[in-house]
Amino acid sequence: MPSEVLQQAKEEFTNWNGHGCSILEMPFTGKDFKEILHQAKMRLRSLLNIPTHYQILLMHGGASAQFSLAPLNLLGNQTCADYIETGHWSCRAIAEGLRYCRVNIAASSRENGFIRIPLQDELQLNAKAAYCHYTSNETANGNQFHSMPESGNVPLVVDMTSDFLTRPIDVARYGMIYASSQKNIGSAGFTVVIIRDDLLDRASHITPHVLHYKAQSEANSLINTPVTFAIYLAEMIFRWIEAQGGLQAMARNALARSSQLYRAIDESNGFYSCHVLPDSRSHVNVCYTLKNSTLTPLFIKRAAEHGLVNLGGHSALGGVRASLYNAMPEKGVTTLIDFMHQFSQEYQR
Ligand code: PMP
Repeated sequence: MPSEVLQQAKEEFTNWNGHGCSILEMPFTGKDFKEILHQAKMRLRSLLNIPTHYQILLMHGGASAQFSLAPLNLLGNQTCADYIETGHWSCRAIAEGLRYCRVNIAASSRENGFIRIPLQDELQLNAKAAYCHYTSNETANGNQFHSMPESGNVPLVVDMTSDFLTRPIDVARYGMIYASSQKNIGSAGFTVVIIRDDLLDRASHITPHVLHYKAQSEANSLINTPVTFAIYLAEMIFRWIEAQGGLQAMARNALARSSQLYRAIDESNGFYSCHVLPDSRSHVNVCYTLKNSTLTPLFIKRAAEHGLVNLGGHSALGGVRASLYNAMPEKGVTTLIDFMHQFSQEYQR
């Protein structure tokens, strides 16, 4: 979270906008919260240039719920969907997709340990697929699509949870985009779904009402109580991104932060290494290992003593992961690089 946003939230916490009450105490049906929701959606629409024939839904259940909600809402009469398998989170989406339809793995980098993003000409797409799903940034594996895959007439569905709002995108080339809020939209609580109008009417009849895209779209995402506080924070984050120069600025910063760190890893004489191939490396989650892996717990502990916290890799993969979301100041990266240098000097043999 940007410190300016946390500070403002702190100041307003008990008395929002001079109303004598906290956001936490406001009814979601009242005009004040509805105005916050309206502003949040408007600012998001403007940041991403979302065309008018796309709806913005704020859903419950995290991005993981979308692993089931995409097939439930989008399969229509079709029985198959394409999935591109690039790491931990796309595997989770595939496992859930398999409960609802035939999954065609259009491409996979599993054989290489997910160290690269498949190329466009490797994709074996099924023209009868209801949609083609991919994960734009694999948060746990540290790989990222730097250009979006093409899926022809099949709607492209993307899990953008960890790189949402880190760069400009062309929304009109997607059928649906989803991202949960806890990375670049502020605090945990909701999932943004951006969906093209013509895909709203394909849901299976067993889709729960509160998780039904069309129903939520018609109810302005207010079928039931939304996470009001997280939406309030998101609106402030969108304003903060605007003030920083928008998504172009976010992309520049993400590239500057991550390339400094990859350079430090690549120039460490093998003390640290990143297995992801250079063209596929994430600008958001930098995942790397220590040559002597027995030193990893000590590295993480010593880093924390330097104020560099949460550097452990994903629980399924281990190693080290520096998550460089939008609010990470450049100083965070330079401090980490200095620490890595000191640590390697001390333990290099
Ligand atoms: N997809 C990606 C790419 C993620 O990084 C995460 C969370 N780290 C998820 C899905 C799951 O998100 P949630 O916890 O909101 O269900």
